[in-house]
Amino acid sequence: MRKRIVAGNWKMNLSKQEAEQLITDLELKYINEKDCHIVLCPSNVYLTLTDELQSNMSIGAQNVSERSNGAFTGEVSCEMLKSLNVTYCIVGHSERRLFYGETNELINQKVKQLLKNNITPILCCGESLSERESNDQEKVVSIQLGGALTGLTKEEVAKVVFAYEPVWAIGTGKTASAPQAQEMHQFIRSFLSDIIGDKCNEISILYGGSCKPENANELFKCPDIDGGLIGGAALNADSFLAIANSF
Ligand code: PEP
Repeated sequence: MRKRIVAGNWKMNLSKQEAEQLITDLELKYINEKDCHIVLCPSNVYLTLTDELQSNMSIGAQNVSERSNGAFTGEVSCEMLKSLNVTYCIVGHSERRLFYGETNELINQKVKQLLKNNITPILCCGESLSERESNDQEKVVSIQLGGALTGLTKEEVAKVVFAYEPVWAIGTGKTASAPQAQEMHQFIRSFLSDIIGDKCNEISILYGGSCKPENANELFKCPDIDGGLIGGAALNADSFLAIANSF
């Protein structure tokens, strides 16, 4: 069976006290009922709060530098993340593409840097509303994935976790329907099959975009959806854990 993963992207939210409370609540309430692996992705400044979690949750970062070290003001390296027990990192999120001009080339460098440091990239892809309306979603996702995976060996590609996140569904309350999401997940898996063959069946592909307890089961039942990348609903322990138990 493929690894089931539910990752919470806290984005630039929560005070220190709120982050501490959320971590406490998650640790107290987390019962791994459905063999789902949980990944928490707090803001970097809160990674010291999560570096000694008692339960079997993994810690992820929301971003990383494409460089290894040096005079790059404001940046955070893979080495730094590793020293705080970070084992996953989101890359290629649409907010970073949109607000910080991240290109597929830059995302490719970040993916390489992460893999070199044994941190699992959670590589996001997904089309905008206008791209969906012109039925270009497969073309857009192929370009994003092709760019982000350039120069990787097959073994490296097989280590990446993917997240399909239609931009029109992120933070909008508008979720992709289960058939729409499944269609794209199947497309991503077949794209990967062209690169790594049958190994594509071992790769976890997460859905992201207004996923909540009310729609998670419908999505997670789909054959190519292996979990979720959760934004808003990850800021509350009950809703996040309800999603993790929705398989
Ligand atoms: C996200 O930003 O990755 C995300 C899926 O956000 P939300 O769940 O709030 O739509």
